[in-house]
Amino acid sequence: MSDCCSAPGLLPFEQALANMLSKVSPITETLTLPIEQALYYVLAQDIASPLNVPPHDNSAMDGYAFAIESLLVNKTLTLVGRSMAGAPFQGECQPGECIRIMTGAKMPDCCDSVEMQENVTADGEQITFLQEKIFGSHVRNAGEDIQLDQQVLHSGHKLTAVDIGVLASLGVAEVIVYRKLKVALIATGDELKLPGQALRVGDIYESNSFVLAAMLNTLHVDVIDFGIISDDFEAIKAAFVSADEQADAVISSGGVSVGDADYTKTVLDELGEIGFWKIAMKPGKPFAFGKLPKSVFFGLPGNPVSALVTFHQLALVALTKMQNAQPLKRTHLTVKCSTELRKSPGRMDFQRGVLAVNDVGENVVTSTGSQGSGILSSLARANCFIILPSEQGKVAAGEKVTVQLFDHFL
Ligand code: AMP
Ligand code: MG
Repeated sequence: MSDCCSAPGLLPFEQALANMLSKVSPITETLTLPIEQALYYVLAQDIASPLNVPPHDNSAMDGYAFAIESLLVNKTLTLVGRSMAGAPFQGECQPGECIRIMTGAKMPDCCDSVEMQENVTADGEQITFLQEKIFGSHVRNAGEDIQLDQQVLHSGHKLTAVDIGVLASLGVAEVIVYRKLKVALIATGDELKLPGQALRVGDIYESNSFVLAAMLNTLHVDVIDFGIISDDFEAIKAAFVSADEQADAVISSGGVSVGDADYTKTVLDELGEIGFWKIAMKPGKPFAFGKLPKSVFFGLPGNPVSALVTFHQLALVALTKMQNAQPLKRTHLTVKCSTELRKSPGRMDFQRGVLAVNDVGENVVTSTGSQGSGILSSLARANCFIILPSEQGKVAAGEKVTVQLFDHFL
């Protein structure tokens, strides 16, 4: 598949993403959780406020509550009661009277305004107001934060720490949320060793599943880590069969490039319906996606930068849909590029850049240098992707480019 802008045989990035999104379905199982356990879960209900917040008009200051009419007649009012937080004034007051009131305490029905204690003089029960006041001074009105029946949170919202506080302030003790997704991780390759193990000649340390597990934790899913599976048909098959049984999504890295000596492709062809795509993107051309009997499968390239970029740009978007969460919002800016960028038309580039403000206050992006798909440190140094469309050729220093700021996953 190709279009005007990608090299023949390559699948345009947007088409790969749309194709993938059309084939994944949101999970339907929900559970009820106490709010203190609901952080980062995706809400499966709309939350309308069962009350006004604050529930009653109350004082924003420690001071004296009064009716504004009284002050128009006389600057000295008679103290006839107290309203404390949790112990409101129960009686009645007449014109010419005032009530001692504390911050958060309910406004007496006979009062409409508050003066802070610093601005009065007290002589026994006689309270003299030193300044002009206007109606409603220092009063927090019922419902000024949230009104009764107001929609506060919507289904699909991922609950943050502040949301948990908002729910508590509404008196909501439990929420209905979608269950966590279960995601299996498989790293394939005979050359891979775990940090802490000794390397033989030709070995490298496995890094993909570490960074993927960290990003999946940020997404708030349960990770089932299958570790490193050697390039052995039976071992790979056993791992995929078990992963498919346990998880909603299976993610592997390595062994998806065509012409590979790995057995991943043979195993996957046997188990499910997997498309081995060559996406018109750089890094990340080889990518596999499809359905296993019970789960969906994302086959990331082995090269660390390619694995991360395809995970971030493709798999994360699909997993977010599966979670029922709102689509990820990523911030794009058009900025000046300080350096020349190498690029040939035919693939969409996700180059690594550092966005900074220059001496004259302009946003300027600078390449992190070498863009090899194995150079993970280039991604660690970057704070944005420089996204260059398929048809674009090289970029001259000073030209404008589009950058996508790194989100909290990177
Ligand atoms: P492959 O697609 O299996 O041929 O892998 C492509 C490149 O990525 C090779 O250089 C692999 O050694 C490397 N690679 C594959 N998997 C990992 C991994 N989990 N961590 C780090 N490097 C990897
Ligand atoms: Mg391999």
